[in-house]
Amino acid sequence: MNQEMNEKLELVKKTCKRADQYRHAGALIMFDLETLCPREGKGEQGELLALLETEEFKIKQDKTFTEAVELLYQHLEELLPLDQVLISALMREVKHTRQITTEMANAFSMVYNRAYIDWERAKQESDFSIFKDTLQQVLDVSRKKVELWEALPGEPTDSYDRMLDDYERGMTAAQLKESFDVCKARLLPFLKELMQSPKKIRTDFMHRPVSDEQQRRLAEALLKTLGFDLTRGAYALTEHPFTETITRNDVRLTTHFHEDNFISSLYSVMHECGHALFAQLDAEEHYDHFITEERTCGMDESVSRFYENRIGRSREFIHLIYPTVCEIFPEVMGDVSENELYEAVNYCTPSLIRTEADELTYTFHIIIRFEIEMALVAGEISVSDIPAIWNQKYQEYLGITPQNDREGCLQDVHWSSGFGYFPSYLLGNMFNSMYAVKMNEEINVGKCIESGDFTTINRWMQEHVFRKADILSPLEWIRDITGRAFTPEDFLNYLEEKYSKIYGLKR
Ligand SMILES: [Zn+2]
Repeated sequence: MNQEMNEKLELVKKTCKRADQYRHAGALIMFDLETLCPREGKGEQGELLALLETEEFKIKQDKTFTEAVELLYQHLEELLPLDQVLISALMREVKHTRQITTEMANAFSMVYNRAYIDWERAKQESDFSIFKDTLQQVLDVSRKKVELWEALPGEPTDSYDRMLDDYERGMTAAQLKESFDVCKARLLPFLKELMQSPKKIRTDFMHRPVSDEQQRRLAEALLKTLGFDLTRGAYALTEHPFTETITRNDVRLTTHFHEDNFISSLYSVMHECGHALFAQLDAEEHYDHFITEERTCGMDESVSRFYENRIGRSREFIHLIYPTVCEIFPEVMGDVSENELYEAVNYCTPSLIRTEADELTYTFHIIIRFEIEMALVAGEISVSDIPAIWNQKYQEYLGITPQNDREGCLQDVHWSSGFGYFPSYLLGNMFNSMYAVKMNEEINVGKCIESGDFTTINRWMQEHVFRKADILSPLEWIRDITGRAFTPEDFLNYLEEKYSKIYGLKR
């Protein structure tokens, strides 16, 4: 590598550092907005956030920067491996945003911000007509954004594929559809069978009152058990739980406490802690190379859902936490056995709300959203068709129909900021089922969970799952971990085996 390239690389990294500092400041505001900021203060905070985002965008639009990226990209093989990852990612970004002026970027942000506000009101009033027009604008803007791509060789040409590519590099709608269709073919009859089982699962105690203080104690016990590092992380309360990586040494997660639903907080802590462990245990040099945003949503969700479901809803984990739960809220657990708690957290039934669904029916919540957004972006259906199609699909797959749009197509915030996110949740389940098989071959996972040995589990995750997530595309990554090509089979086997046992079905 010659002197000129060295200087260019230096310049690129300096620019990334500066952009990252703006992102860092924005992340702090974001966290504040969702946790402590009073309602009347949100407007100005929102403006400040938009200002920081625009600055970050401008820094990376600077000509000396984009030219340096292009030059380095032409000499990619001469760079060190992590620099190659960084330059490839920046080249994609440059190509995808070159045609977007600062004014356009601003206008796009305005549409998304407006859509968020309208969605919130529409949901509150359970009235899709309030959201309809801005959702149309979101659709137009999202299409426009991907039409403006200068594609690199091998990148998709179809609009929805490009939207997906933003979340899951290198995966197409056709690939997803194929694996989702396999899920439908196996899980629809299986769900029917389960629903006909005479097995009764006790759930009455799940909604007994548990105070905030008791739930806080449980949340802290869970974080400690799972190995969340509180010297490099924090937690706070919010309405819709999320995790924000401010920096490698400042990873913040959130949860909520609902008095009549302690299970909701328990599993949101498990889920967010999965995201947080990923961020805390990711390699320091990846942060130094500004490539940690390269991991895809599916990879991230595979980890959060691994801790939430594969660990959190396992028999061994319930065995581990049962004494703690009984100790913290004895008045709720007094007449509940360990087995009853295990069955209750795995109670399977068709329901309307995605975030409250069990592991099995969750699959259909995603498939429904995927099918609708794919048809929408392709122009096969229009925005105003959404409520009717939504209800029709819930009837078809789950045999239930929402009474209103709040518990129907308005329940999730995602579409106010574009399309292509939902499939990542289901992909996450498929990914973690594949690496769980591998993990079980190498360590005794059940025994680790039962004895609270999360050091061994987290280390395995760090070495196999986290290590290359920022570097490889999802399909390369899952093959690297497991030695096998991507498949939904492991996920389906896991569901059938687990629920057959709980519901006493013969297989
Ligand atoms: Zn998540």
